[in-house]
Amino acid sequence: MVTTSVAEPVDSAAQDISPAVVDCDVHAVLPSSASLLPYLDEYWADQLVAALTPSYEPNYHPRNSAIAQRPGVVLDIDGRAATSADALINDVFADGFTDFAVVNCLYAVQQIHQPRREVAHARALNTWIAREWLDRDPRLRASIVVPMGSPRAAAEEIEFWSQDKRFVQALVLGQTELLLGREINWPIWEAAEKAGIPVAIHIGGVFRQAPTSVGWPTTHLEWYVGQQSNFEAQVASIVSEGVLQKFPATKVVLTEAGFNWLPPFMWKFDKLWKSYRPDVPWIDRLPSELIREHFRLTTAPSDGAERPGGLDSAVNRLGSDQMLVYSSDYPHQHTSAPRDIEHGTANSALLERIYRLNAQDLYNLAVPASSGKVNQS
Ligand code: ZN
Repeated sequence: MVTTSVAEPVDSAAQDISPAVVDCDVHAVLPSSASLLPYLDEYWADQLVAALTPSYEPNYHPRNSAIAQRPGVVLDIDGRAATSADALINDVFADGFTDFAVVNCLYAVQQIHQPRREVAHARALNTWIAREWLDRDPRLRASIVVPMGSPRAAAEEIEFWSQDKRFVQALVLGQTELLLGREINWPIWEAAEKAGIPVAIHIGGVFRQAPTSVGWPTTHLEWYVGQQSNFEAQVASIVSEGVLQKFPATKVVLTEAGFNWLPPFMWKFDKLWKSYRPDVPWIDRLPSELIREHFRLTTAPSDGAERPGGLDSAVNRLGSDQMLVYSSDYPHQHTSAPRDIEHGTANSALLERIYRLNAQDLYNLAVPASSGKVNQS
């Protein structure tokens, strides 16, 4: 294992500061598995070369489609977006709106399925993120990529990297081998709570089994549409298994999952909980109350919230203005631009919450007070 030191904690205790505009979901793409060679120890580096280990770059979206990479972004020599910090910095910060961006790297160490190799590659990947992204710009923050094949090692990874305050959350995928609420996964929740950071669940999967509960889809479209059911299962698991009672400071960020599916899901969850209360005696409140307190959702894709009144409607049905946090999902492009959500409300206080205050509660990121930029569309 490569020995890596962590950066000094960032001092955000300066005077005269205000909550920052935080883009809670941008992506870094590993150019190739060989990019990890400098950060692997000799044994695992040899394995990567000699064993002809393939790239684990996921193929979630058709590579040249807009949903994979939006038009107009900086591309590398191979025509790919987001493969360098310079490209991301240019594309995400150029308009001066965003103060911080949280880098979620989806390079799929979780798909390795050999726990020791997965752990080594996760440490190398997080080191690559620290050295080649976070060190490049003080506006970057990142998620700790977690080796899901070993919850104990995942907890160690969280404990190690959370000492570097630029790592602001742990990152897991929506489709896991075992539901996230299961007790075997509790070391992850325990470590995140101890570190004081949220756990982000992002679209994606470990592909240890079919990505839908009823088998394998054959198209990208089915796969992406079907992800919603995985998020519903994970929310039900985390709430029903008692994770939020055992680790009451837990925060979960449902990332790139949309949000308009959640209100009817909460309604059904509440209704059935009333019938099944003896099954989960440790759940002493409506599931929707627990979800509103502990779960947050990113705004890209925007699920139609960009239509007139759409954002107001979404927030009203969620029953809380504290659940949505802004994201662009760079370099992905959904059906509207990230800040088109401003067309969905005339409530500047709500936008202030989504752009700044809700993320402040999650990540405690601040900027000089004089740089207020909310709703300057
Ligand atoms: Zn995303």
